[in-house]
Amino acid sequence: MSTLRFALAGNPNSGKTTLFNELTKSTAHVGNWPGVTIDRREGTFKDGNIEAEIIDLPGIYSLSPYTPEEVIARNYIVEENPDVIINIVDVTNLERNLYLTTQLLEMDCPMVVALNMCDQLEKHNDFIDRIGLEKALGVPVVRISALQSHGIDKLMKKAVLAAAVNRKSSSVLRNTVLEKPIEEIEMRLLEQGAKHPLHKAIKIIEGDAHVQADDNLRKLKDDLIADVDDIEALIADLRYKHITKHYSPFLRKSLKPGELTTSEKVDKIITNKYLGIPIFVVIMYLIFHLTFGENLFFIEGLPSPGVLLQSGAELLIENIGDLTTDFLIATGASEWTYSLLVNGIIGGVGAVLSFVPQIILVFFFLSVLEDSGYIARAAFIMDRLLKRFGLSGRSFMPLLMGFGCSVPSILATRTLDSERDRRLTMILIPYMSCGAKMPIYALFATALFKQHSDIAVFGMYMLGIAVAVVSGVILKNTVFKDSKTPFIMELPDYHRPRARNLLLHVWEKLKGYIIKAGTIILVSTVFIWLLANFNFKLQMVEQNSIDSILGTIGNVIKHFFTPLGFVGKADGWKPVMAILTGFIAKEAVVSTLGVLYAGGAAGDALLQTIASNFTSASALSFMAFNLLSVPCMAAVSALFAEMKSAKWAWFSVAFWVASAWVASFLVYTFAGLF
Ligand code: GDP
Repeated sequence: MSTLRFALAGNPNSGKTTLFNELTKSTAHVGNWPGVTIDRREGTFKDGNIEAEIIDLPGIYSLSPYTPEEVIARNYIVEENPDVIINIVDVTNLERNLYLTTQLLEMDCPMVVALNMCDQLEKHNDFIDRIGLEKALGVPVVRISALQSHGIDKLMKKAVLAAAVNRKSSSVLRNTVLEKPIEEIEMRLLEQGAKHPLHKAIKIIEGDAHVQADDNLRKLKDDLIADVDDIEALIADLRYKHITKHYSPFLRKSLKPGELTTSEKVDKIITNKYLGIPIFVVIMYLIFHLTFGENLFFIEGLPSPGVLLQSGAELLIENIGDLTTDFLIATGASEWTYSLLVNGIIGGVGAVLSFVPQIILVFFFLSVLEDSGYIARAAFIMDRLLKRFGLSGRSFMPLLMGFGCSVPSILATRTLDSERDRRLTMILIPYMSCGAKMPIYALFATALFKQHSDIAVFGMYMLGIAVAVVSGVILKNTVFKDSKTPFIMELPDYHRPRARNLLLHVWEKLKGYIIKAGTIILVSTVFIWLLANFNFKLQMVEQNSIDSILGTIGNVIKHFFTPLGFVGKADGWKPVMAILTGFIAKEAVVSTLGVLYAGGAAGDALLQTIASNFTSASALSFMAFNLLSVPCMAAVSALFAEMKSAKWAWFSVAFWVASAWVASFLVYTFAGLF
């Protein structure tokens, strides 16, 4: 017997991935669907004598031909004949999910409906009449919770049984005004021996150009529906009417119509048209206040938890430096060994590591927001704002992820429908200040803004958002004219963040930092130390002098940065070199400054030299340039891969440099006025 093939189909966020992982465990592997950058996941389910290959189709809302996901899903079913479609339906969004179900039913393929998130139903004391729905739909229905792995066995048993039956397609459009046209076209298709004639007949009537039909058939269709204005709207309307009349009553809610759940009540305030954005801003400010605030809740002399942790880390690194120095003196090490170890490595890598506690704290707070369900609200609130500027709300998830790291965010744009929206979003992602830029803000804010360092850091994040909005508007009205996609997004219930998730998130971040500090940053620090201590003739020169390789190069390109204010001093080439190493990894900005300015003395000494070499205005301008210009090497290579066009990738790079230059210039000029 050949192995059964089950295709998982369902809306985005219906829990498809969770179910897929649950079914396939470690056998899952990810590839690409031909020709597009959409993941194709496959794996094997094995339990007792049941064995099946599971194919996870892309998440879709319908079977129209408007997005690559939809085309992939329907082509797979039509051309590759899976043995069963497992249609996963999120019961908490029953109507919208069943809209897809009504279309899948029109295919001549066995099907089982998995009602997912049934744990949520129980929590709300709601009830779904499974047997009633099963009768109404005409296919087996199973209640499951993919998250708690309930009902999975039953689902697979029903799927195996369904595979043995030759199911005939059915449609909710029968017994409607479209009955006749559908039947006539279906008959013709049957005569031609077409597969899935009902599905194809309906698609032809909808005017779907992707479905093959000869001229006669198209002509017949035009005659049959000559008196219908907007056929797509009519069909959608008929489907929804059928769902609300014949399927919705099987879901019995404990709340009376109009009554609100606790989450909905909270959302009345949090996503309120006027309060939403101020609340978002206050929450973000609070995070930065707790992490970078010198005076917690404005109480003089009471440091915030972040500042307290940071000074502890600094002390530790200073001690390591002192210890190493003593050791080197005692062993009579050569001067350059001392310089490389203490000035180079401990200074550079140490400067980055001393900010790790604050980074952990910010990620901890962001994870709390994410896990509690607030981040989804933030996306919803921002979508409303962005729509006014003509931007798509779907971009917001990848953008939001940009606060963590640009690389996965650039990959996440794959969920967007149009190539234009994808490209536009990719350009905007690096403006969302990623975690690696935080040490730069932390260093400058602590060195120059003392009492107001939390505001300075918070301001940088807001500046990134503002530049993204302005750039979005500019690009949307010039190079990316008229692209629009609807945004559908559900708000999950609020819940208490789970400690395990939080720890996992924070650990992931921390691990990334430690690995980076031990690899890229260590190597670039040594490299910078070499370039800062030798001249082009490879002779050792006075540490960090203008005669060094770095000094010579930096001294030339610094003129590009003169209007931005941070290169006025004699050693103005130093910040320029820091910016350049930032293109490798943003953490390297701080480590380079550590090597170049303080000669390895992290902590207070570094802060003092920064304070004496920058003014408030030039510090802000420097931070802004690092925030807005080209992100790190990893993000740029992800960009080149995902843009699928070197022209657009280079355009993005040029756009980042230009926007960073203009914004920093404005920041410097504006800040100089005060
Ligand atoms: P996909 O977009 O369809 O692949 O959906 P995911 O598998 O990523 O799930 C979306 C969200 O729903 C995640 O936060 C899951 O943890 C959650 N989820 C999935 N299945 C269940 C379930 O059975 N019950 C509950 N409460 N949440 C679930």
